[in-house]
Amino acid sequence: MKPTLTQLHPSIDARCPKCLGDGYLVERDGEFAVAQKCPCVGRCPHCRDTGWIAASRERRARKSRCTCGVLTQRVKAFREAKIPARHFKSTRQNWDPSGTRTQAFMAVNGYIKAWDPEVDNRGLVLYGDVGRGKTHLLVALLRDLIFLEGVTARFVEFSHLVGDIKAGFDVGQGTHALLDPLVRVDVLAIDELGKGRNTEFEGTIVDELVSRRYNAASVILATTNYEPGNATGQAAANFAAKNAAPSLVDRVGDRVYSRLREMCDFVKCAGTDYRDSRRASRR
Ligand SMILES: [Zn+2]
Ligand SMILES: [Zn+2]
Repeated sequence: MKPTLTQLHPSIDARCPKCLGDGYLVERDGEFAVAQKCPCVGRCPHCRDTGWIAASRERRARKSRCTCGVLTQRVKAFREAKIPARHFKSTRQNWDPSGTRTQAFMAVNGYIKAWDPEVDNRGLVLYGDVGRGKTHLLVALLRDLIFLEGVTARFVEFSHLVGDIKAGFDVGQGTHALLDPLVRVDVLAIDELGKGRNTEFEGTIVDELVSRRYNAASVILATTNYEPGNATGQAAANFAAKNAAPSLVDRVGDRVYSRLREMCDFVKCAGTDYRDSRRASRR
């Protein structure tokens, strides 16, 4: 069993009404959701907040890091993940699993359970129509990976990333300045994959990002409004022909798509369609 934050930091008040024993609180700060230690967290009895524990009472005794530092690290990692402020409350606990949305929720729960820091974990792509709570689930998953598993992570909305890179060009910054940090983190969460105007430039960015993470065997989590589709080598042609219902492969191209397929499990985030259930009840 992995130690919980409360076991790692013995001064978290398990009965705290504010953090419910988590030891941290998440709130909005401008554009992003940020975490901070809950005021209930008292002084660490092991290291008295120095962060170090001496092996003996001798003056030159070897010192090791106290486990209480983990809370500080994870609070910092959460801030650095740059989760959008509008999702500061998105957790697995407040997800409303109604109808077929349960499938995606179960996949996320299973994902957290199966996470193993010792191996190359697979990624996860949640796809489905707008308004099915995909981003909520993505953020909830990221939040738990950070606080329960101690991963480093970044959240990006694809079209914002493209905009930021373009803005970077204006001040003489190359793509590396923005992409390198996205390649280094343990887990990269891409929201709205495939969204955008599908320019060649956007294609280059998504290709570079996915290829570099693929080469590093690191995890990608993503949401997309597009159905996955099949890699046929026709993605560019399909898109140029203004396919009425383009699929993800049309949007990101065959190469990126087949890499995602190799790296990630795809799970549909559907929802009970109100009109369908009404029709069914008339039968
Ligand atoms: Zn608390
Ligand atoms: Zn300590």
